[in-house]
Amino acid sequence: MVRRGGRGWHGRVLAAAVGLTAAAAATSVWTAQAGPVEGPPARAGVSAGPSAPDARPQGPGGAPVSVDIAHASDAGARGVNITIDDGPDPVWTPQVLQVLRDNGVKATFCMVGTQVQAHPDLVKAVVAAGHRLCDHTVSHNTAMDRKSEAYQSQQILDAERMITDASGGVRPLYYRAPGGAFTPYSRRLAASHGMRPLGWNVDSKDFERPGTAAIVATVKREISNGPTVLFHDAGGDRSQTVSALREVLPWLKQHGYSFGYPVH
Ligand SMILES: [Zn+2]
Repeated sequence: MVRRGGRGWHGRVLAAAVGLTAAAAATSVWTAQAGPVEGPPARAGVSAGPSAPDARPQGPGGAPVSVDIAHASDAGARGVNITIDDGPDPVWTPQVLQVLRDNGVKATFCMVGTQVQAHPDLVKAVVAAGHRLCDHTVSHNTAMDRKSEAYQSQQILDAERMITDASGGVRPLYYRAPGGAFTPYSRRLAASHGMRPLGWNVDSKDFERPGTAAIVATVKREISNGPTVLFHDAGGDRSQTVSALREVLPWLKQHGYSFGYPVH
């Protein structure tokens, strides 16, 4: 796809993943809240001060949504969050959905607005299968953190609308910045719209297509870093991702992990 600008995107993700790993190592591994960019030392709720872009907190049950980047799982200490980014895609999303269904796993899909508009039926299929939605911006610009607030707002809120329209009214519960390029502003904006900023602990590196075995090995090796695992269902041939999920989901179950959603 056009938005994949060669190696830059990978470098961005790798840098973000390293940042997350370092943050996780420096604090409580499974509950680390620090992300690849600055973050407040403690949960700040949505009390983001006078510059908060929109005072409209709306978590489940009306609770404010934290601006901190989430990594933890609502499935507890052995919970794993499977996250699937950049779709939906007419070839790969149905195959990913099938693997998840076969293993009884619910996941979180971080969707790109242009893909959502092109394939609204797949957004509905994801929701119908019980998975959660995450706003991954309109056009997946990994330089989001160097853009104006107006640009960030357009990218995040237009994608939120596209996803909600396509899903038939089911709203995205999370916001994941492309390449992890969060800003304090984008986190506040997302939280004020009920979308918890969402990071990851384990980059499966599936986007680089290193081979199914390598993807599986990466997840097995790094799952001790934290519960949120990054996969992709778009942006190219994702057959290795599908195969890797088919191996790694049963392995995780056999090793005592359960599956959940990122804390909201
Ligand atoms: Zn992405």
